[in-house]
Amino acid sequence: MNHPATPPLKTADSSNVMEQFSRFEKIDASDDFIRKAVEEADLPALMAALAMITGDTSLISEDLKPPTPPMITAIAPQGGMSKEAQTKARRLAVAALIKYRDEPNAFEGKPPPALLDACVKYLIRGDLEEYRSLLEHELGVSQDLGSPGWTLDQIAPQTNFRVAVIGAGVSGIAAAHRLQQADLNFTVYEKNEEVGGVWWENRYPGCRLDTPNFAYSLSFAQKSDWPQQFSRQPEILGYLKEVAASAGMKRHIRFGCEVDAMRFDEQRGIWTLTVRDRTGEVSQEEFNAVITAVGILNRPSFADIPGLDTFQGRKVHSAAWANDVDLTGKRVALVGTGASAFQIGPSIAGEVGELKVFQRNPPWMLPTPTYHDDIPAGMQWLLKHVPYYGRWFRFWQFWIAVEGRLPLTEVEDDWNHPISVGRKNEALRQGCLEWLAKQYHDRPDLLEKMTPNYPPAGKRMLRDNGVWAAMLKKPNVELNTTGIERIVPEGIQTKDGVLHEFDVIIFATGFKASDFLAPMKVTGRKSKDLHQDCWAGDCRAYLGITIPGFPNLFMLGGPNTAVVINGSAIFSSECQIEYTMRAIRDLLASGHKALDCREDPYASYNVWVDAGNLKRAWGAARTTSWYKNQNGRASQTWPFGLLDYWNITAKFKPEDYEYLG
Ligand code: NAP
Repeated sequence: MNHPATPPLKTADSSNVMEQFSRFEKIDASDDFIRKAVEEADLPALMAALAMITGDTSLISEDLKPPTPPMITAIAPQGGMSKEAQTKARRLAVAALIKYRDEPNAFEGKPPPALLDACVKYLIRGDLEEYRSLLEHELGVSQDLGSPGWTLDQIAPQTNFRVAVIGAGVSGIAAAHRLQQADLNFTVYEKNEEVGGVWWENRYPGCRLDTPNFAYSLSFAQKSDWPQQFSRQPEILGYLKEVAASAGMKRHIRFGCEVDAMRFDEQRGIWTLTVRDRTGEVSQEEFNAVITAVGILNRPSFADIPGLDTFQGRKVHSAAWANDVDLTGKRVALVGTGASAFQIGPSIAGEVGELKVFQRNPPWMLPTPTYHDDIPAGMQWLLKHVPYYGRWFRFWQFWIAVEGRLPLTEVEDDWNHPISVGRKNEALRQGCLEWLAKQYHDRPDLLEKMTPNYPPAGKRMLRDNGVWAAMLKKPNVELNTTGIERIVPEGIQTKDGVLHEFDVIIFATGFKASDFLAPMKVTGRKSKDLHQDCWAGDCRAYLGITIPGFPNLFMLGGPNTAVVINGSAIFSSECQIEYTMRAIRDLLASGHKALDCREDPYASYNVWVDAGNLKRAWGAARTTSWYKNQNGRASQTWPFGLLDYWNITAKFKPEDYEYLG
């Protein structure tokens, strides 16, 4: 097909969201105060930020370069810089900050590209060119590089192109921002009464991030004043509300509205959405394209435990916590030991009368001694006063995660071990076993129960700072690994026939993760039903985004896009929305009504991804987890590096699509 030439592009204004998140306070502190603050700094990122501001490349000289030792279980403090290098770096940093305080005007103006390169090279090992566009996007020093760079008026003037976004969680917010930048007509449907998605829904005691915060944020709204490295739920929800408010996107969002169904009309190239509002009223609404941003971890699963409805006490799911759940002095069961349970248990153990934790498989724990700590005051001060320090810190964390962790999950064909899948995976296992031995040296019974018999990264690894072990050792806490037989009116009956009586059962049993887009009914070309006729319980997509037979339907957080150990889900969502914007631009420029993914790229892409997952601990391991579907296929996980996902979504290839109408 022919693609008519498109008019030359003007860069669209990237709204003022970036600016609002890029405000820094003037330095008026004493020399002494500055010196103390620098003592508490993360140095590699600080040196890069200061070199950018001052242009002084002696701050990032070769002898100060962080060697970044390979990360097995923990990140090396200061990127592995020697004590001498740290002392020198601190001295130079203090001098640079004093100079910047005394002569702020001397350092105005945009840093030259060569300086940016030098700073990036100072932090990373490996090939800058290979990573350049990804890293610059993530860093976003002076520009929002994910901005579409076009507006509807420039590409298809006088066209009425309406887009529906389903969900106003983190990916829906990213989508709304990009659509707004391109001046497209769009509506966001959100079933809840507020933005935030999982961060609005998950309010269980102890809920917080387990991915470093600076990396877990939107590239166009990088916040510098996170109070912790792994912030609590209210902080993250507050951030998402702030982004939505500063982007002025709330007027596009229809809260309390759930999309029950959508149907594609091939003749007209139109999707009709069946929308139910909070009063139960149902309406039909038409759009040219639909972007689903409903998340993977959205529909709670109570696990198929027999007798579930017979329990006469209070049942509560981690993802649907009710404000009136009172646990004080109660007999409480906690079912599951995944990421949610790991945060709930230690938070409630001191308050309940008795806590029994029902574990099927123990999780692997990633030692993170500072997991619950505040960011030190000095570092917080620097983040607020040194322009773009937070961005360089995000960049640094991102780089460590990208390069650091994925190799630890690799299946090596010549590695023969009953548990681990490769040499590096074994090194990770040994590191984690050491941590376990330290935690439970006084309780061999708990050590045995808490030692997994599957490879690390076979399922999600959990951050641990010792609070789980401390909880299990409390006199009012018991870890039960017998297995649940059934739920009965009084409580839980285990497989050994014992009845455990409870007032409250907390189900931290996860989500129906492989039922992508459920319970929406999605009907595409030739009246094909997505769940029944196309996926049949085995969800797939091209790039995790598009599906043959479902034109102009774009998924964020779709099949095979979740990262297990190396990076944050926000990165993938941003890749997906930026790809979607390229697709929409191409469609608008072509003058066609819709584009439909071809079968060939879809099929070969999925063969490639499946083969990749089989070479990873989570694909090879014979474990159950939300990463796999009912067929045992890893339908949720992305098996390669973030750079690979960046590269395959960086360009929209028209040849992968059939153009309709
Ligand atoms: P999950 O990881 O799926 O864990 C569910 C737990 O329930 C597992 O321990 C599972 O045991 C257990 N379980 C399921 N059915 C059971 C049964 N019939 N009897 C006994 N136990 C049963 O769910 P989650 O903890 O809610 O976490 C889901 C995902 O959400 C995480 O992997 C993470 O990506 C995300 N999350 C993130 C954060 C964060 O960033 N802070 C916090 C919470 C969750 P098996 O292991 O044996 O299957």
